Amino acid sequence: MENKKVLKSGEFLVEEINAADIFIPEEFDEEQKMIAQSCSDFLEAEVYPIITDLEKGNRELMKQVLKKSGELGLMGISVPEEFGGFGQSFVTQMLVAEISGAGFSFSVAFMAHCGIGTLPIVYYGNEEQRSRYIPKLAAGELLGAYCLTEPGAGSDANSGKTNATLSADGKYYILNGQKMWITNAGFADTQIVFAKIDNDRVLSAFIVESAFPGVVIGPDEHKMGIKGSSTAQIYYNDVKVPVENLLGKRGEGFRIALSILHMGRIKLGANVVGAAKKTITDSVKYANERKQFGVLISSFGAIKHKLASQVIKLFASESAVYRVSKDIDDLIGKLKIDCGDTGRATIEAISHYAVEAAILKVYGSEMLDFVADEAVQVHGGMGYSTEMDVERGYRDSRINRIFEGTNEINRLLVVDTAMKRARKGDFDLFGKAEKLYNELDKISREEVKGEEYFKEKSGYISNFKKVILICIHAAVRKFEKGLIHEQEILNNIADMMIETYVSDSLALRIEKLNSLKDDIAVYKDILDVNIYDTAEIIRKSAYDAVFSLDLNEDACAVVKAIETLTKVKGVNVKSARRRIADKLIEDNIYKF
Ligand SMILES: Cc1cc2nc3c(=O)[nH]c(=O)nc-3n(C[C@H](O)[C@H](O)[C@H](O)COP(=O)(O)OP(=O)(O)OC[C@H]3O[C@@H](n4cnc5c(N)ncnc54)[C@H](O)[C@@H]3O)c2cc1C
Repeated sequence: MENKKVLKSGEFLVEEINAADIFIPEEFDEEQKMIAQSCSDFLEAEVYPIITDLEKGNRELMKQVLKKSGELGLMGISVPEEFGGFGQSFVTQMLVAEISGAGFSFSVAFMAHCGIGTLPIVYYGNEEQRSRYIPKLAAGELLGAYCLTEPGAGSDANSGKTNATLSADGKYYILNGQKMWITNAGFADTQIVFAKIDNDRVLSAFIVESAFPGVVIGPDEHKMGIKGSSTAQIYYNDVKVPVENLLGKRGEGFRIALSILHMGRIKLGANVVGAAKKTITDSVKYANERKQFGVLISSFGAIKHKLASQVIKLFASESAVYRVSKDIDDLIGKLKIDCGDTGRATIEAISHYAVEAAILKVYGSEMLDFVADEAVQVHGGMGYSTEMDVERGYRDSRINRIFEGTNEINRLLVVDTAMKRARKGDFDLFGKAEKLYNELDKISREEVKGEEYFKEKSGYISNFKKVILICIHAAVRKFEKGLIHEQEILNNIADMMIETYVSDSLALRIEKLNSLKDDIAVYKDILDVNIYDTAEIIRKSAYDAVFSLDLNEDACAVVKAIETLTKVKGVNVKSARRRIADKLIEDNIYKF
């Protein structure tokens, strides 16, 4: 592992790595498995039995169960040991995020507390702030919330009106304003509040205690899903916030907010994997019990198709999640040598992988929506009954496309951040794209030869990357800086980048698995169907992009190149999906 090749964020577009160089979930060690088991045991023992009561919006009950998870140490996983936590690796943090993801509303409350409610202080707090708040937050003695959104400032987070002015004696910031959609608002003791000091153009961040006079918490919102999670407005009426509670420097709040969002969305990527595993298990268990026309519904091809499609998307998503997580761990290690501070090194490393964080968020949240929707369908009428977990899961899933930056914003970020990093010199995107574009005729004669299995797959994926480069070059040439206003085209490029990164991670995982498992036939089925489907998505997105560009004289060569580069060998998708479903049906639980 010493000479492991590590890619910078977005560099996957122009570079290949070896399967040996990525981390795969099959490599979790015993300690990680033990931590995952205790988290899972907690859900079984403490959350599922009260889930219906939590759903009634019982703030006190949610508070109690959160505190219990704190007493058991689950809230300290991401907190360095010197502040009373367990200082676990980023991979382990993501594993805990994954397992807790199966906990419905509890998961949202838990993640908001452990992540966006606690970690801003771990990452940006000074020693005094850290020692005052973090040990108690890590133990669940205090519960946290993160307050960025306002009625007039959602996706445009920097446009908030909440204001802070220094008091005449210089001891306090006087805070006035309103936040909305705040998770854990109903019981949080501490809040990370973003506000502008005086007439500043950018935000600053503050640690506000809910008990400070002038903090008023509104009633909970009536939501479509995650009904057990407290979500409310918070009002600040001349709240005196001690100057020592300014988090980071004046004007640093927007940077803090963005970095914390990178962290929130990457952890959401893990969260949805856990939710999807539970949902698939619920689907197959039902399909293995329910009989129609005298046979189990799991014997029907249409149901097998659904079960297998759920598995393929989930397995692919999970592959990308842990690949990035280990890259982040490696970068934390390097950055820590320079800055000596685990908190700062962690948030720098997460922020570095901003492209992949947005990819995980978009792919994962849409994967879970697909899985949850098909789970309801597998259950037929029962899927529509509030008695069933899949009904709750269906409603709960929907929020993931909205918070931690909507998927529209995250799609834009995928492309924009990769381009910015390339312009900064992190990797050569534009030079390679131009070269490729100038050799379009040559490309259209190139085809992947079906030699060795994994070489063939990586050949397809590298062709998908070429399609992306061609589209990027054509779009940048046409619109130059104005490309930022062509969101439809940026979305096409984002979709290709998202699908390609996930397929790339999946192919590398299965290639690595080949050296760990005797029989990987079913995993090859997963990869075969994924690549076959991805080729179609790449072709469609690329066509949408280039036809929208009105390329005139180049159009024919570009279209021909896309056609060639998205050509993949035909797959008997029916049989492949049946084999995947058959394994799931036999195991009667998601166990891939
Ligand atoms: C249950 C729940 C819990 C939440 N928890 C928290 C929390 O704990 N803390 C917190 O601070 N916030 C929280 N939020 C707020 C959440 O982050 C925002 O709702 C989200 O960022 C979107 O903002 P908005 O609702 O104002 O939508 P808007 O920004 O008004 O967006 C409306 C639509 O326009 C699209 N859009 C907006 N701008 C653009 C653009 N530039 N280009 C293309 N499309 C665009 C959006 O994608 C969306 O489809 C929560 C929200 C919910 C519903």
